[in-house]
Amino acid sequence: MIPYGRQEISQPDIDAVVAVLRSDFLTQGPVVPRFEEAVAARCGARFAVAVNSGTSALHLACMALDLEPGDLLWTVPNTFVASANCARYCGADVDFVDIDSDTWNISVPRLKEKLDEAQTAGKLPKVVVPVHFAGQPTDQEDIWDLSQEYGFKIFEDACHSLGASRNSEPVGNCKWSDITVFSFHPVKIITTGEGGMVLTNDEQLAWRMETLRTHGITRDPAHTLKDPDGPWYYEQLELGYNYRMTDIQAALGLSQLARLDEFVEKRNQLARRYSELLVDFPLQLPFVRPENRSAFHLYVVRLQKDKIRKTHREVFEELRDQGIGVNLHYMPVHLQPYYRNLGFGPGNFPAAEIHGKEAITLPLYPSLTEKEQDQVVKAIKRVVS
Ligand SMILES: *Cc1c(COP(=O)(O)O)cnc(C)c1O
Repeated sequence: MIPYGRQEISQPDIDAVVAVLRSDFLTQGPVVPRFEEAVAARCGARFAVAVNSGTSALHLACMALDLEPGDLLWTVPNTFVASANCARYCGADVDFVDIDSDTWNISVPRLKEKLDEAQTAGKLPKVVVPVHFAGQPTDQEDIWDLSQEYGFKIFEDACHSLGASRNSEPVGNCKWSDITVFSFHPVKIITTGEGGMVLTNDEQLAWRMETLRTHGITRDPAHTLKDPDGPWYYEQLELGYNYRMTDIQAALGLSQLARLDEFVEKRNQLARRYSELLVDFPLQLPFVRPENRSAFHLYVVRLQKDKIRKTHREVFEELRDQGIGVNLHYMPVHLQPYYRNLGFGPGNFPAAEIHGKEAITLPLYPSLTEKEQDQVVKAIKRVVS
């Protein structure tokens, strides 16, 4: 089976991990801050805090923005469940904004409409979470303008888009958001095994997330409230977690980061090649806005149902039977049983629901060969023509 995504591990990656195993620190040690500084520098943000998963990173972002019971977080249904779940960890409520039918990212006109409705109803969100679907940046300046007008905070779920850029500026610079979140799960652009990171330009938010990553504890004399009565002294200021990244993970991440541009370039080349080979097929191909460079975490196509006699499921099964590890990104989050139990249901977000009935993720990762890609295209040809 050709998988839809896979990691790319080199000998230098392995050597970097082994070097940490032979060192004094296995958990958070000197390599974690080096990895943080390298990602912050690459993305043009002032601060970075590494954690043990993208999900933990989303949770810390919610906490740092003071999301609490009674508050609302809005995200899109076309995402992984974690983008919404993070609000529930804080006891806050979730609502969704439908997607744009070209980019499959959050629809800014729909966001504006929904904000107007929410303002009338007195139920504006505290936080909005745009998701960079498949690696394409969101229309972030426009969302930022709306945040100023309606008074909400933003964190970007950029788990798909490390290495992407918009108007030649890197994703993660937090120019048009409060915080940006990355994941280093093995299918993402670079990996640490499990891992994630939050970036921000706000010193206070950075300090808060750093503290919350380790139980809400600080040893920083500038922040301690009482007189230390000994060298053992630390203070727990609020309820945090153990969300620390290990030096083992950071060493892998730092080594992988050196190949980020190479990975993104390879993904873009393969995506372009797919789009050339598939142009005459009854498929809607990925659309990337001219001002964006996608990281192409995923190559997603949509079946043009009026031109294909088979169902979504049949196409899926026939491709899997031919050894093509296609996937679906995403079943709409609001249709998950957990969110249905909170009152959501079919018909709430039509564009995301149609996407979920037509989308197919084709294999894409830097080591995918052109021969394998041809195999994928041949299989699709057999199935849809
Ligand atoms: C992968 C992913 C996450 C969660 O990241 P983990 O590192 O797996 O916890 C969150 N949001 C999106 C959009 C993702 O793709």
